[in-house]
Amino acid sequence: MRLPALFLGHGSPLNAIEDSEFRRAWADLARRIPRPQAVLCVSAHWETRGVRLTAAEAPPTIHDFYGFPPELFAVRYPAPGSRSLAQRTASLLASVDAGPDPGRGLDHGCWGVLVAMYPQAEIPVVQLSLDTRQPARFHYELAKQLQPLRDEGVLVLGSGNLVHNLRLADFGLAAGYDWAERFDAQVRARIEAGDHASLVAYEGLGPDARLAIPTPEHYLPLLYTLALRTPEDEVRCFNERCVLGSISMTSVVVGAVAAS
Ligand code: ZN
Repeated sequence: MRLPALFLGHGSPLNAIEDSEFRRAWADLARRIPRPQAVLCVSAHWETRGVRLTAAEAPPTIHDFYGFPPELFAVRYPAPGSRSLAQRTASLLASVDAGPDPGRGLDHGCWGVLVAMYPQAEIPVVQLSLDTRQPARFHYELAKQLQPLRDEGVLVLGSGNLVHNLRLADFGLAAGYDWAERFDAQVRARIEAGDHASLVAYEGLGPDARLAIPTPEHYLPLLYTLALRTPEDEVRCFNERCVLGSISMTSVVVGAVAAS
């Protein structure tokens, strides 16, 4: 059975431990898709020179944030790694030398959503890094090579935010700035229309794009998910809301999901 591919807007690390509509939607989605044999996660929070794959048998939980309460630093997500998935992924990504990183753990872009989806942490997880030297088109084309994984029981999970400007974030704001809401709506419309070309060339999406994507790392995981859409796949957005002024929680499912 073919698994869907997901992009989850992860937002604040607190979503890992605090109840919210976003966290509930992640958990609900996990109940409505086939149970994966393993997860391959592309997170905004692992940027490298060259492409890397986690290869630890027991990847540690990385608390890569500051200024949050001790309960968040106490979270451990002890999912096993999967050397076989890391090797399979490297073999699919034949156009690059995707090397194993046996010391790297799981960052909060990865465990912060998986702890809601699969709280037992029994499903093996591998992370694929973002090569910071590469343009958006590289990431989109690279991700296409991952397509066979969807038929091999692997859940490909992009984790980022399609509007992410921390410098302009206002922690007193529940909704988004006008430009954030506008850009989020524009991107959603293009996702639903299957207009991937303009989303890959996102710098051309006008002045809102420069505010929404001041640096690309939170946007690029979306391209990994969209690249896995086949002509038979439906696509659906959820958690369509901006928070803190300049963060969009909009998430995307590529492929079929059971009715709730
Ligand atoms: Zn993040």
